[in-house]
Amino acid sequence: MRQIVVLSGKGGTGKTTVSASFALLAKKAVVADCDVDVPDMHLLSHPEIVKKQEFRGSKLAIIDGSKCIKCGLCQRECRFEAITQNFTVDPFSCEGCGVCTVVCPVNAITLMERISGYVYISKTKYGFLVHARLNPGEANSGKLVTMVRLNAKLLAEEENIEIIIIDGPPGIGCPVIASVTGVDAGLVVTEPTMSGIHDLKRVLRLLAHFNVRPFVCVNMYDLNVNNAEKILDFCKENGIKVVGKIPFDAKVTEAMVAEKTIIEYSPESDAAKEIVAIWNRICEELGLGEASAKH
Ligand code: SF4
Ligand code: SF4
Repeated sequence: MRQIVVLSGKGGTGKTTVSASFALLAKKAVVADCDVDVPDMHLLSHPEIVKKQEFRGSKLAIIDGSKCIKCGLCQRECRFEAITQNFTVDPFSCEGCGVCTVVCPVNAITLMERISGYVYISKTKYGFLVHARLNPGEANSGKLVTMVRLNAKLLAEEENIEIIIIDGPPGIGCPVIASVTGVDAGLVVTEPTMSGIHDLKRVLRLLAHFNVRPFVCVNMYDLNVNNAEKILDFCKENGIKVVGKIPFDAKVTEAMVAEKTIIEYSPESDAAKEIVAIWNRICEELGLGEASAKH
C-alpha cells in the first residue's frame, strides 16, 4: 500500500484542487481528508455516508451535586475558570485537565469522555472517502487525523486498494505531523509569493524530519515568474523534485463553484492538463502501476 499526502504551507494554495483531482485520476484509491479543521473534500466529491463513528478526543468534568459540599476548592484551582458560582461545569471552558477531581475533598467530581466529533466513511463518485467533523470549540485535531488515517488504512486493506491519498491540513502543526508520519511521499503545493517560499521551506523541513520523500508543485506559477524561479532554484539546490508548475486558470474557480474537480469540469484547460501530468510524474517516481498513471 502506498500513501501520498498533499500539503501546503497555508490554506488557499490549491491543495484540495490538486488532491481531489488525484482522487479522480487514481481510479482506485481511498481518499483521507485530514484537513479536519476545515474539511472540504466532501464539497467536490458529494459523499454518501456509509459509516459514522464517534470521536472522543477530550474529557469533561461532571460535578455530582448530591455529594458537593460547596467548599469552592475546585473553583479556586481551575485555571480555566470553568466552574460556575453554582458549582456546575461550563462545558465550553472545561479543558478536561482533571485538577478539580484531585482537589475535591469529597470525590464529587468525575471526568467523562465527551464526543468531540465524528469520523465518516463515505462512497463518492471517485471511490471511498474517509472524512471527519470536529465539533465547534473542540481541539485535538491531531488525534482525529490519526483516527481518519487509521480508518483509511483499514478500509484500503479490506477493499484491496493500493493507494491512499491524504488531503493534509495546512501548516506544520500537530495535525500535519499526524498526516505525514509513515507516508511514502508528500507533495507540497506552493504559490509564488515570498510567504509561499517561506512556508514551503518549513513544510519541506518537516517532511525531511519524518523521512518522507518530498515533491513540489508551484500553483499559479505565472502570477509571479520571478518567485516561481526562486522556488525552482531552491528545489534544485536541495535535490527536491519539482513535479509541475500549474498555470493560473480561471476555470479552476469555475470548477469549484460548480463543485467539480478541474479534471471533470474542464479537462482541456491548461491547469487540468498540468495536474494530470503531475499525477503521472508522481506515479512514475513511486513506481505506481499502469492502472493509476498514464492519463
Ligand atoms: S477538569 Fe480542569 S478545566 Fe475542567 S473544570 Fe476541572 S479543573 Fe477546570
Ligand atoms: S471541590 Fe468538590 S465539594 Fe468543593 S465545591 Fe468543588 S465539587 Fe463541591
